[in-house]
Amino acid sequence: MADQPDVPQNTEFEKEIQEAMKKGSAQGAAKIQEYLDQQDKIQLHIGITGEAGAGKSTFVNAFRGVDHRDEGAAPTGCVETTTVVTPYAHPNYPNVTLWDLPGIGTTKFPADKYLKHVEFEKFDFFIIISATRFTENDVKLAKEIQKMKKKFYFVRSKIDNDLNAAERSQRDFNAEKTLATMRENCIQGLQEQGVPATVFLVSSFYLHLHDFPLLQQTLERQLPAHKRDTLLLAVPNINLEIINRKKKAFQAKIKYDAGLSAVGAAVPLPGLSIAVDLSLLVNVAIKYAVGFGLDKLSLERLAAISGVPLSDLMAVIKSPLAAVKITRDLMLKVLTTFTITSLSMMAEEGLKYIPFLGIPVAAIISFTTTYKCLNMFLNTFADDAQRVFKKALGLDTSV
Ligand code: GDP
Repeated sequence: MADQPDVPQNTEFEKEIQEAMKKGSAQGAAKIQEYLDQQDKIQLHIGITGEAGAGKSTFVNAFRGVDHRDEGAAPTGCVETTTVVTPYAHPNYPNVTLWDLPGIGTTKFPADKYLKHVEFEKFDFFIIISATRFTENDVKLAKEIQKMKKKFYFVRSKIDNDLNAAERSQRDFNAEKTLATMRENCIQGLQEQGVPATVFLVSSFYLHLHDFPLLQQTLERQLPAHKRDTLLLAVPNINLEIINRKKKAFQAKIKYDAGLSAVGAAVPLPGLSIAVDLSLLVNVAIKYAVGFGLDKLSLERLAAISGVPLSDLMAVIKSPLAAVKITRDLMLKVLTTFTITSLSMMAEEGLKYIPFLGIPVAAIISFTTTYKCLNMFLNTFADDAQRVFKKALGLDTSV
């Protein structure tokens, strides 16, 4: 039979939902809820190590989208800042933790003892940062991490400084060539010390430039499948592609969220002959706002990091659910602006999931309405995220 890519796959998990739905929609919804809760609890622990002054704390803050002056920021710029193991939870995803680890030289432990000291078992991977060439200590640590069957990635930090210095000193300055030479030198240095590895050139002040996007992709690809979305949602919006991929990750869950609405307490929408589960819509909309960095706190952090005033960022936002406290009242108000036509169109798209999840007939309208509403929210949030991203970088936001 020819492939039918558009037809949803009946996964093991979906069969379980179907079975549960046969017993009753409450059982079906409980099964879905269990799955969604599990997803929110997936832990990701990232160890950031390197010598004092290498730029670890600055990287930790940038990764979490936190300004270094922020209350929850890792302290930067002082030689003694990192002598202990310090966890920094992601401000939006407490299940994601970046660990600012002391440099191996600071602790005076040999590599194996160092790994025991930092309790290496819990880390999903390590990032070894250096602002210069990688040292003997860095290499020893990498080898030991490998021995422990864990992954490591070399990051050469402060690339903006290097580029500025090269521009000042070279008559025929060419950024691409300078970067290629730096990358080659780092890789060669590591090879000579017996560790053939890729090196990612990163500036924590400009994460969207150079190799950070490639590092993010590599990390995501090399993580176990169930942790990939956890990383994806936690990284800042460094390019339009990331925003699109976040949208796809959310989109893949809409059928489950809509499946939950099968048992939700439905509230009739004034003027429309349909009812929706307001609490469910509120909860999912909050997830979208946070995931795209469009909640008030994330926008404030972005304004601090980018130097673009909050009011300018807000000016390009169109979603009535962004940058505000999303309440049931607000949700109801937003929903009543929808028309019957806009709500029924999406029903067709959502209908294909009904047999796969075993949604009972009585819940079909609720399912399709929720499906449609969430798609509309998601599209608007993703478009807003693209405009805010461009605004923060001073790019044209008119398209
Ligand atoms: P740590 O001791 O490894 O945690 O290093 P810090 O993060 O405290 O950074 C040491 C100094 O380097 C601070 O003054 C940072 O502002 C600076 N720094 C860190 N990363 C970068 C970067 O990507 N570019 C530039 N220009 N400076 C950086």
